[in-house]
Amino acid sequence: MRIALFGPPGAGKGTQAALLVSRLGLAHISTGNIIRAAIKAKSPEGEEARAYVREGRLVPGKLVRKMAEDAIADNDYDRFVLDGYPRTLEQAEWLDEFLDSNGTPLESVVSLYLPDAIIIERLSRRRIHRETGQNFHLDFNPPPPDIPAKMILQRSDDRPEAIQRRLDVYREKTLPLEEYFRSQGKLVRVDAVGSVDDVHDRIRRVISGDLVNDRR
Ligand code: AMP
Repeated sequence: MRIALFGPPGAGKGTQAALLVSRLGLAHISTGNIIRAAIKAKSPEGEEARAYVREGRLVPGKLVRKMAEDAIADNDYDRFVLDGYPRTLEQAEWLDEFLDSNGTPLESVVSLYLPDAIIIERLSRRRIHRETGQNFHLDFNPPPPDIPAKMILQRSDDRPEAIQRRLDVYREKTLPLEEYFRSQGKLVRVDAVGSVDDVHDRIRRVISGDLVNDRR
C-alpha cells in the first residue's frame, strides 16, 4: 500500500499517519519529522532548513526531495504513508517520476479538509514531546502527568505569525495538488473534523474503496 496524506497544517496528518502505521504496519515517512531531526542534529541539511521551518516557509524542494526519496528507497518503495510530501506541483511530479520508474506508483492520495477556525485552534493548542516528536493537544489529548513539563514544547512554527504563513503557503502551493491527483483518479477527500478514531475510520474506508462517493 502506497499512500500520501495531505491537508493543511493542523489537519491531523501526523496523528493519522501514526495510526495507519500502528494498525496497518505502514512506514511513516514525514518530511517534517525528517527535517526537524536534521535541524536538531545540526546537519548541513538541517542548518539550511532551520530558518525556513521557523518562519513557516517551504524548505527548498531539492533538499526535501532527497530526504523523501531516500526514505522511500530505504523502505523498499512500498508499504508507506507519506506525510507532508509532496507539497508542491514540482514535488508531486518528482515523486511520480521516482515511483513510476520503479514500477510502484502511489495508490491513493488522501486529502484531509477542515475549516480554518479549527485549524488555528488545533495548532495553537498543540504541543510536542521534545525527543519523540509525539503530538499532544492541551485540551483533548494532554501530555500525561508523568512526562516532565520541560520535555513538552510548542513548535516554533505553531506560533500565530507562522501559522498564518503556513496556511497561506498551503493555499498557494499545496492545494493545487488536489486537482493534479484528481486528474489521475487518485484523490480521496476526507472530512478531518471529529475524533481521531472517526477520522481514521473514514480514511480506512476511502483507501479500501468502500466510500467511493468521497472520490470527488
Ligand atoms: P510539517 O511537520 O509537515 O508541518 O512540516 C514542518 C515544516 O517542514 C514545514 O512548514 C516546512 O517548512 C518543512 N517541510 C516539511 N515538508 C516539506 C516539503 N514537502 N517541502 C518543503 N518544506 C517542507
